[in-house]
Amino acid sequence: MSPERHQRIREVLRQRQLDLTVCLENVHKPHNVSAIVRTCDAIGIHRVHTVWDERHKLRGGTAMGSQQWVRTTNHDTIGEAAAALKAQDMQILVTNLSQTAVDFRDVDYTRPTAILFGQERYGVSNEAVALADQDIVIPMVGMVQSLNVSVAAALILYEAQRQRQIAGLYDKATLPDEECQQLLFEAGYP
Ligand code: SAM
Repeated sequence: MSPERHQRIREVLRQRQLDLTVCLENVHKPHNVSAIVRTCDAIGIHRVHTVWDERHKLRGGTAMGSQQWVRTTNHDTIGEAAAALKAQDMQILVTNLSQTAVDFRDVDYTRPTAILFGQERYGVSNEAVALADQDIVIPMVGMVQSLNVSVAAALILYEAQRQRQIAGLYDKATLPDEECQQLLFEAGYP
């Protein structure tokens, strides 16, 4: 590996936001999962959480292989995922097309934050809504009721990135050096 490439990777990993994540609840179409993971990498998200039932696990897992720089953790239930996120003191925001949801631009993403996204046809589960601290929505004024889940994720994550950049959160390296080395090693850069 050239010194420039090594330096570039380290610079990317230096900006990883350990306290910003997404949780995909039974989002199972591989192209949607891949698009979201790709956006997560672009935003500097280090780890993506997923909840897949047995039927969807394999297909989702295949899609995950496309992004070597973003870690994934699968949970068996949304309850297990929420408990893991809360144990890290994250506020849990759930995307929900409801009357009570707040505009996604009115939320503070500089706090440790996990954002839940739902299944392509039915959205998030009632349990996910109950477990979350706040539901958020991207306002819709057209004929369609919802956006593609990967589009919704991109919009919300770039608002999070905007706020975090202003707050200087990309200026502080938070990824432990051992994790950085491990990622480089797994990618074939000893
Ligand atoms: N009928 C479903 C519902 O009521 O939630 C639509 C699901 S939508 C196609 C799939 C996922 O994309 C949602 O669960 C949510 O995560 C995200 N999404 C789509 N449009 C959104 C919007 N306007 N605001 C917030 N999230 C949205």
